[in-house]
Amino acid sequence: MTKYIYEFGPNKTEGDASQKNLLGGKGANLAEMAKLKLPVPPGFTISTECCNHYFDLNGRFPDTLEEEILNALANIESQAGMVFGDPGNPLLVSCRSGARSSMPGMMETILNVGLCTATIPGLIKKTNNEWFVYDAYRRLIMMYSDVVMEKAEQLRPKDGMGIRLNLEMMMNNLKNDKGYNNDTDISTEDLKALCERFKKKIKEDLKADFPDNPKDQLMGAIGAVFKSWNGKRAVSYRRIEHIPDTWGTAVNVQTMVFGNMGDTSATGVAFTRDPATGDNKFYGEWLVNAQGEDVVAGTRTPNPLNIDTKNSQNKHLPSLEESMPQLYTQLFDIRNLLEAHYKDMQDIEFTIQEGRLYMLQCRVGKRTATAALNMAMDMLEEGTIDEKTMVCRLDPKILDDMLHPIVDPNAEKTAVKVAEGLPAGPGGAWGQIVFTAEDAVQWAKSDKNVILVREETNPEDIEGMRAAAAVLTARGGMTSHAALVARGWGKCCIVGAGALKINVETKELRVGTRVFKEGDIFTLNGTRGMVYQGQLKMKDASENVRFKAFMSIADKYRAMQVRTNADTPADAMTALDFGAQGIGLFRTEHMFYGADSDKALFLLRKMILSKTHEEREIALEELFPFVKEEIKATLQVMDNLPVTIRLLDPPLHEFVPQSRENQQEIADALHIDIEEVFKRSEQLLESNPMIGHRGVRLGITYPEISHMQVKAIFEACAELIKAGKNPMPEIMVPVTCNEKELAFVRDIVTQCHDQALKTYEIEALPYLYGTMIEIPRAALIADKMAEYAQFFSFGTNDLTQMTFGFSRDDIGSFMNDYIDNAILSFDPFETLDQEAVGGLVTTAVERGRRTRPEIKLGICGEHGGDPESVIFCHKAGLNYVSCSPYRVPIARLAAAQAAIMYSDCR
Ligand code: ADP
Ligand code: MG
Ligand code: MG
Repeated sequence: MTKYIYEFGPNKTEGDASQKNLLGGKGANLAEMAKLKLPVPPGFTISTECCNHYFDLNGRFPDTLEEEILNALANIESQAGMVFGDPGNPLLVSCRSGARSSMPGMMETILNVGLCTATIPGLIKKTNNEWFVYDAYRRLIMMYSDVVMEKAEQLRPKDGMGIRLNLEMMMNNLKNDKGYNNDTDISTEDLKALCERFKKKIKEDLKADFPDNPKDQLMGAIGAVFKSWNGKRAVSYRRIEHIPDTWGTAVNVQTMVFGNMGDTSATGVAFTRDPATGDNKFYGEWLVNAQGEDVVAGTRTPNPLNIDTKNSQNKHLPSLEESMPQLYTQLFDIRNLLEAHYKDMQDIEFTIQEGRLYMLQCRVGKRTATAALNMAMDMLEEGTIDEKTMVCRLDPKILDDMLHPIVDPNAEKTAVKVAEGLPAGPGGAWGQIVFTAEDAVQWAKSDKNVILVREETNPEDIEGMRAAAAVLTARGGMTSHAALVARGWGKCCIVGAGALKINVETKELRVGTRVFKEGDIFTLNGTRGMVYQGQLKMKDASENVRFKAFMSIADKYRAMQVRTNADTPADAMTALDFGAQGIGLFRTEHMFYGADSDKALFLLRKMILSKTHEEREIALEELFPFVKEEIKATLQVMDNLPVTIRLLDPPLHEFVPQSRENQQEIADALHIDIEEVFKRSEQLLESNPMIGHRGVRLGITYPEISHMQVKAIFEACAELIKAGKNPMPEIMVPVTCNEKELAFVRDIVTQCHDQALKTYEIEALPYLYGTMIEIPRAALIADKMAEYAQFFSFGTNDLTQMTFGFSRDDIGSFMNDYIDNAILSFDPFETLDQEAVGGLVTTAVERGRRTRPEIKLGICGEHGGDPESVIFCHKAGLNYVSCSPYRVPIARLAAAQAAIMYSDCR
């Protein structure tokens, strides 16, 4: 027989904090507190396993459950000295959900279960407090009808027609009619009558009687907790957070204690340290004569816990420290005990019933990024935790918040919202809105802060995006051009703000009836996707000394190197500041997009539209000095560090001139007719350019293109060496699928290398030669590829695209359906698909090493900055990950945590 129930309380406790999987977070910690001899009202936890069996049985309780419940109840009854359902001396309980970690959508707690016609008189007699009993009863009716009878039954009332709202309205009308200000002013007689009217309304609306039998109430509440596990909100939350459905939820049934029994009773929540700043100060809120949810409900302003943490809103209210000093001292001792025991900041709930303190919950407390950092460092310095624990205390994802300026949260509270979109680029920014990339560049030149607002962005907007403080688009998803570029730069960006109606001609923007003109000021919160009117106050996140200290400790534990994807000396420098140890991807083609690229782009176009070998040779010769200078500039910044330089990758037609003016210019330069330019451009068009004539294929058809690039690399290196520098180039061939491609290009590389040695009369020009692994075939024949390649860099963007057969640029139209239908639980372009794409990676690692044990292995896709994917890379035994500059700290921390958690994997 499976054991479903685990008791906790002063006399008997069966679980502990290590059993979160079985007992849920709440149940495990209640048991742990009971074990620590803290005053926990006795109760029991029904395991998550029972929840799974409940669903296996199509929504029926396992046969043995009821008997177990009755046994456990009997134990509680003997400890509490009350009996569940007894008319003379009734025990009341709460029924609370509790999954492994708290999650939205789970059933709300129901208090006062067991109160019914039969038990009301007994409780009144015992407490001598009729008002209290009817207040508890009306709360039970309101909560129960809402969560058990309506939500769990999946009745979907129209907006505003839900039972909870209806009952609340009845209560408010009563208060208005009788001139009661607070809930506590309602007279006992009125409460009594209200409860009767509530029950009638429930019967009318929900076509069911409010259960008047304690056992029915309890079993109904337990079933409702299980049902909430499969409620819509809970399910969609699990999809987003990649939480498996099989975890299930536990249920906690616990003796009620009452904070609403008069002026010696109270309830409150507290954090063992300040969750906003991390300060080592006991911080919390409480209310006298109140029950559970009143503190967080916001109907009354809660009092401060102690004198030390009073703020402007509550400084006039007495603290617990002042009102009930002895109980405060007891609570403060518990706070110290819990911190010493858990060695982390705890979030606790307590209730005081007629001068006696009870603990109702404790769990690791949520905190801001700054607080997380400060607490981790403080606890290390206090000697509470060791370095490894400290390193694991910060979620790499929240580092973003620390590296970018943000909108001051206080200013945001009162700000006027313009629209909402997807949070594509982190941090906050304000600026005057402009509608074209040229305007952004112009305005920025005259020292204006601008926000570039576009329908959607394309590569031609790149300079404007660069110049703008932030980018805002009406269309596009999280992987749209704007989003990718902005994230790469760490620029604040919101995409897909559909409410924006943009008119580029009139330079106006409409949102509903509001009209905004060029030059109007907006503030963007790119971390949340919020657009506001006007200039909001910002908070600078610059130079954080503590953060640097934290990161240098984390770095000690890392097994992988962290490089960056950078195409310009400026990006390279940013990345170095963030701790990059090399460049994992330098895209040569980007030199044709950036600032002052007009001339180089023109020459590239001339080369592309050349017809004959001779024409092309001439164009390439003209292009050569530009390419060499670009490469040299970045190698110089990255002195002594490896730089992976990828040969030309995109299909040529991407560079074909679009404007009439540019086309004419090319025609003149090539001494051909503009019609001929059209014709040649057309010939370059492909139906599937992403799998067309690109990457190494260009180098096979036009070896002179590869030759020019490789020659530029070696000459740049030779010049740097002569100047006393130490360049470390790694020449990378993209889009390969066959080892003979590598052999073909290698001949060019060797030839250029030898030539450079001669020309510059130097002894050695060290370099590595390798390839990107981004086509499944290449991964599968990695043993052969490794005969030529001294390194592999996994290009997981393309590898994902080709493994799934999903076009990266078109997933917007179906990815959500895949997620909604649980066909995929995550977007494989954001988080590496370990099953198949990861399988190809591990296969390639194993086969590559078989041929060449010392082969260098890295990853350069977007995944290199995603913590989950970084952990995978560690386990797969890669030497480094490479990501955009602003993600370097995230990758460093994720890699350190991976090394600590999976030290046995390599
Ligand atoms: P949540 O996860 O939303 O915090 P809880 O079950 O912790 O849900 O509680 C909701 C409120 O009810 C909390 O304020 C809690 O302290 C209170 N509460 C829960 N169980 C009891 C109980 N046995 N006696 C008194 N109050 C309780
Ligand atoms: Mg709680
Ligand atoms: Mg690629």
